Amino acid sequence: MTTDEGRSKGSLPRWDLDPVYPGFDSKEYQEAKKELVGLSARMEGMASRGITGPVADWLAEALELEDRVGTIASSLGAYCYARYATSTRDAKAMAELNAIEELELPLRRAGVLFRNAIAARRDEVLAAARGPKADPRVAPFAFHLEEELFWQSKQMSPDLEDLAADLSRSGGDAWTRLQEAVSSNTSVLWDAATGERKTIVELRNLAYDKDRAVREKAYNLELGAWKGVEIPVAAALNGVKGFTVSLNKRRGWESALDKSIAQSRITKATLDALIGAMEDSLPAWRSYLRAKAGLLGLPSLSFYDLFAPVSSGKEPRTYSFDEARDFIVGKFGSFDPAMGDFAARAFKERWIDAEPREGKVGGAFCTHFPSAKVPRVLCNFDGSFSDLSTVAHELGHGWHYMCIRDKPIALTDYPMTLAETASIFAETFVFESALASVEEGERLTILETHIMDSCQVIVDILSRFYFERAVIERRASGELPAEEFCSLMLDAQKRTYGDGLDPERLHPYMWAVKSHYYSPELSFYNFPYAFGLLFGLGLYARYRKEGPSFAAAYRELLAMTGSASAVDVTKSAGFDIEDKAFWKGGLDVLGGQIAEFEKLARAAGKR
Ligand SMILES: [Zn+2]
Repeated sequence: MTTDEGRSKGSLPRWDLDPVYPGFDSKEYQEAKKELVGLSARMEGMASRGITGPVADWLAEALELEDRVGTIASSLGAYCYARYATSTRDAKAMAELNAIEELELPLRRAGVLFRNAIAARRDEVLAAARGPKADPRVAPFAFHLEEELFWQSKQMSPDLEDLAADLSRSGGDAWTRLQEAVSSNTSVLWDAATGERKTIVELRNLAYDKDRAVREKAYNLELGAWKGVEIPVAAALNGVKGFTVSLNKRRGWESALDKSIAQSRITKATLDALIGAMEDSLPAWRSYLRAKAGLLGLPSLSFYDLFAPVSSGKEPRTYSFDEARDFIVGKFGSFDPAMGDFAARAFKERWIDAEPREGKVGGAFCTHFPSAKVPRVLCNFDGSFSDLSTVAHELGHGWHYMCIRDKPIALTDYPMTLAETASIFAETFVFESALASVEEGERLTILETHIMDSCQVIVDILSRFYFERAVIERRASGELPAEEFCSLMLDAQKRTYGDGLDPERLHPYMWAVKSHYYSPELSFYNFPYAFGLLFGLGLYARYRKEGPSFAAAYRELLAMTGSASAVDVTKSAGFDIEDKAFWKGGLDVLGGQIAEFEKLARAAGKR
């Protein structure tokens, strides 16, 4: 195998963004910006005049315009963010990012006016989109138009929406930034002798330390640090949730949960089935946590043991980037040759930025550029199996984009519930293949790491759902003091972790930790994670039954994620997500992994 272009053997690649735009000063980039300004002004003008002339002609023109302007706006935004993400101290990247945000403002207003324009001629719009008299230029957008009409019924007048957008910068969004600022700038004294201090992020990373005394010390210091800043952080949470409650009421929502259900494109019945199945699975998770305690030689786990590494006494194997490439390309290709080719191309054409370096953001993400119709992946590769699965996960997102990229941009926007489908599927595929080929000792470690992550997505997510539901309910009648947030958090953790964790050693300040609670426009940014994991696993279970012949159906399913409700998308795969039995299928896959882990743990205990 030859190494990829642009790096020597053994080094890690940086991505090539030139095919998108060859730099901020390039003619291509500058012209795209100019085009965005011109097209948004046209879009705003058209939307503010409302429908003139024949409805189908107006719609066809507006939809085409929306597609062009959306393509440019999202490509420019994604490009600036990608440049910023690999070099966060680059002032030029930051300035361009802000400039694009500014240029997008008229589009927001145009969106409000467009929805009002179509609502004013609702029946004619619907007739042009669906049914015997549908116009062929408009019909492909039927789902999009129906959804826009629904959101129009939940928006205030254009002036009030304008005011809300303006005020959110010093209102809702300012509270979000306060939580970010406080949590990223708080540090505590770690070592009195050397004077070394640690930030909250650093303390939280020590939850992965193999020395229990270190984990416990970090936990105690972290709780103390949160206690010290609980007043501003509680103010931020009260501020965000208060902002959300007020706007939701003005926009005609019964509850924040209803809005979240609509944003997720699911139904109340779907959510009830999902939550019910998660609740039913709790005994298995608690049993896993007790088995992990046994393996660590503890009577029971504390919150700070949740991420403790389980050692099998053997150093886990590492992967070079080329080995990771061969592994992923091979596995993807064995499922679907087209998916394998896609992965090979991503490695060959430098679509992946894998090298950790100063100024680059942590973690991993996948982004895409509709103007060039290509995705890019960012990760920080260190050679562990978990990093290999991160690359597979992000390339799963990339494959999702490749399957949907030829649709108009309005039909490529999938809800957060379906956003993780392809990534989880890809990750599971690689995980299961790896598990089949590793030795006994490593098997226990890989399996445990995987279950540990899933436990967060099912059990911890359920605790966050309970907590947020309780907070929003109470916030409607006034602000909550920090102690009340803590006691609601502890209640939620006791209801979910149960006897899997020491009830005296939980984490009362998780409400301060998770940034998801601090988004004014997205409430309940928790259950979609469980939805994504279990739906991805449901698809995987189906693949196991059908083999590679499932690949074509899978591609079609991904292609429709932006143009149908989640209920309809999943129905096309033969699933009924309003039925608890469907969710149980995915949970059973995890249950099988837990059972195997417990067996290996018992055997390890006897040795
Ligand atoms: Zn993802």
